[in-house]
Amino acid sequence: MRPSTSSAIDRILPKLRRVRVLGSEKYIACCPAHQDSTPSLSLCLAGDGRVLLKCFAGCDADSIVGALGLSLADLFPNNQQRYRTESKAERKRRAINGLRAVGTRQVGTGL
Ligand SMILES: [Zn+2]
Repeated sequence: MRPSTSSAIDRILPKLRRVRVLGSEKYIACCPAHQDSTPSLSLCLAGDGRVLLKCFAGCDADSIVGALGLSLADLFPNNQQRYRTESKAERKRRAINGLRAVGTRQVGTGL
């Protein structure tokens, strides 16, 4: 089995015109949602695999993905479920840590 990249950016970039790489996980391309003669749509890949879109002309992400025949869900990696599980586990860990911190602080004040 070939490892699935499931990268949202790989799904979106081929649909855009005049894509240029600006840096690590940063791209600029012509915005499909308005008459764009010079690339004014910036894309970057967030740490969680999400694609962040920003059109300098002010188009919202919804109309940009819509113009590409995609939906907002396509901005997220395929293995969303895995991320959701991770974040739930993380939330639990944070809650436990938070309780510990509160407990420590209370003990500290008590002394
Ligand atoms: Zn635009």
